Amino acid sequence: MPPFIMAHGGAGPQAMSKAQRACLSDALAAGHAMLKQGWPALDAVEATIRVLEASGVFNAGVGSRLQLDGARRMDASIMEGHRLRAGAVAAIEGVRHPISAARLVMDRTAHVLLVGDAATRLARHFKLERQPPPGRVRRTGVRSACANEAARRTLRLFRELTGQSRGKGASVHRETVGALALDLAGGLAAGASTGGVGFMLPGRVGDSPLIGSGVYADNESGAVSMTGEGERIIRIAVAKEITDRLAAQASPVQAAGLVLRKLVRRVQGRAGTLVLAPDGRFAIRHSTRHMAAGYWGGRGSPVVRDRFK
Ligand code: ASP
Repeated sequence: MPPFIMAHGGAGPQAMSKAQRACLSDALAAGHAMLKQGWPALDAVEATIRVLEASGVFNAGVGSRLQLDGARRMDASIMEGHRLRAGAVAAIEGVRHPISAARLVMDRTAHVLLVGDAATRLARHFKLERQPPPGRVRRTGVRSACANEAARRTLRLFRELTGQSRGKGASVHRETVGALALDLAGGLAAGASTGGVGFMLPGRVGDSPLIGSGVYADNESGAVSMTGEGERIIRIAVAKEITDRLAAQASPVQAAGLVLRKLVRRVQGRAGTLVLAPDGRFAIRHSTRHMAAGYWGGRGSPVVRDRFK
């Protein structure tokens, strides 16, 4: 089975920026290069999401939104489909790569989800790279358009922090990130990383760190990574519902469509999803106007668009 990588940079009303397109393409290339060298899907998902977290042009890692008290609390999760191992962090602060903190929870603890200060302490214990406090964000190592955007972001962050962003400025267009991979051995993995939604109460947690809501991966059925309003996604446990439908023989396109329609019908929720089946069939679907996402199987160059229907 040829390796395959998918990534998204969130679903919402706005079109993707040039910087976001460049970052998604870089992230897909990084993840695919690992898969080609024989790395497991889990490592490729982590590496892909790390590129997006470091860019600052998405609502994840250094680009994460602030909660109403001015703190940046982030959520992330990762799961592999061979033994159904999973790790997640919620409301973690001061780390550059929450996805790697999620991976630590999976690999180095007996747990699946750690929250708040305890999650941050675990990251410190294992010396994960730190993230400067909000308002003092460094330029990233990501090239070109990503780096220019990082400079503009510092100004936007200042406005958010000083309360100047309520109203028009609040709609800084940065969204959650996620990735799926299928490796040479036929293994699947899924991940997501986010700074949450706009104007969150301190302590709010969305779907992204919740296994079965924001992500799911099972080599017997498929892998899913979600984006959209967590408060709605959680109530349908969307990621698991999509993989259950794959297991019941729906195609990725059918499963994604059915569950996204159910989300609208039952809880008036709009979202976007990446879906990947064990045989390499995939779908990118969204009920929002746009979804920044892409995929690559290694031929030509990565496909990145902000509309998929
Ligand atoms: N699902 C994320 C959350 O609710 C937000 C997003 O995907 O834009 O935290």
